Amino acid sequence: MSSNQALMNRDLEVLWHPCTQMKDHQSLPVIPIRRGEGVWLEDFDGNRYIDAVSSWWVNIFGHANPRINSAVRDQLEKLEHVILAGFSHEPVIELAERLVGLTAPGLSRVFFADNGSSGIEVALKMSFHYWQNAGKPKKKRFVTLGNSYHGETLAALAVGDVDLYKHTYKPLLMEVLTAPSPDCYHREPGESWEQHSRRQFEGMQKILAEKHEEICAVIVEPLVQCAGNMRMYHPIYLKLLREACDRYGVHLIADEIAVGFGRTGTLFACEQAGITPDFMALSKGLTGGYLPLCAVLTSDHIYQMFYDDYDTLRAFLHSHSYTGNPLACAAANATMDIFATDNVIENNRVLSAHMARALEPLNDHPHVAEVRQTGMIAAVEMVRDKASRTPYDWRERRGMRVYQHALTRQALLRPLGSVTYFMPPYVITPEQIDHLAKVAMEGIDIATRD
Ligand SMILES: *Cc1c(COP(=O)(O)O)cnc(C)c1O
Repeated sequence: MSSNQALMNRDLEVLWHPCTQMKDHQSLPVIPIRRGEGVWLEDFDGNRYIDAVSSWWVNIFGHANPRINSAVRDQLEKLEHVILAGFSHEPVIELAERLVGLTAPGLSRVFFADNGSSGIEVALKMSFHYWQNAGKPKKKRFVTLGNSYHGETLAALAVGDVDLYKHTYKPLLMEVLTAPSPDCYHREPGESWEQHSRRQFEGMQKILAEKHEEICAVIVEPLVQCAGNMRMYHPIYLKLLREACDRYGVHLIADEIAVGFGRTGTLFACEQAGITPDFMALSKGLTGGYLPLCAVLTSDHIYQMFYDDYDTLRAFLHSHSYTGNPLACAAANATMDIFATDNVIENNRVLSAHMARALEPLNDHPHVAEVRQTGMIAAVEMVRDKASRTPYDWRERRGMRVYQHALTRQALLRPLGSVTYFMPPYVITPEQIDHLAKVAMEGIDIATRD
């Protein structure tokens, strides 16, 4: 029988893991997972872990969900894949219809890519190409927010602003305009989230006023900058941004790859601002965390700007091999079924209120600067000095100490720097949330001891 150790040895001979300094594994274990069920992951030595980060934010209805399993199994018997140019299939049509039905009126066309980063590339290219087709060739720049993240391929990386991932590759990346983040961690004492996000908008307003003739689109992560340490902001920012984009003739791209499908308390984060973006990218939770797939939704108006005789060369000639893969679409349709029949958003409201209560005591920890939450995302930010909010030196890797403790206590709490966060599958129970809160408190005590 395979053990953790045996598999780890084989793994480390041949694999190169994502987002990892492989040398870390001289001391940190790689944990091979044998099976998953609900929020639980089980390794080859029989240890179990609550997947508190939803396996990088993708899983929403638990591992080995019977309904999604059965939908994928059924699809597998019929059609595993087919080219989506010139051909089509039922799961992709059904999924597009459902996404158009679920998102704000005005989003009526769906282009499929096969992961989040490629979906971002699609939205950026479509926006640029729209302006070319519209006779506005000067529009070729993008505006992004400080501390934003949109994926790892070169254009997605270019419109992101997390230095840790971006810095090395800067010479390869297109230049973007960066507006100050509305991130409310940095609000002044006594300032509300709304006041702060409103004030931060002034920087964006200025960029748009001065440069709109060169700008294709603004790209944002609505409400939560997840990879940027789970920093959060008020919906007013999105409302102001939508108005300004309309005023200045600039597209708005909403990257709901991480925050879509109920994460922030509404089905889509944009709903909280009552706005419709020109492009909306959905991935991660889209397939319930089963298979890679991205949907880029846009308006009929934008679609029409490409619709013409072939020889005008206005078409969007972009493709990915696995565009609209039927198995992925079947998983996504089963995921949409669960949203349609179970009171997911309602239940999440109860769970997120429970999460808030469970994490409340962490506010009093001498090395916790902030416990923040938006819907089913909660984050705890550790600092060296609470009063001045002096951060820990990143080299100390305090978050990793919490992670290591959590592994001994049945929890997967992979951190972002000094931030420990909770982004669990929606099938988590209140008791499991209480356990995670307890483990986090213990872990933060240990991690901040010296
Ligand atoms: C994860 C993520 C992406 C990239 O998606 P991948 O499937 O990992 O390429 C883009 N934007 C946001 C906001 C994300 O969280």
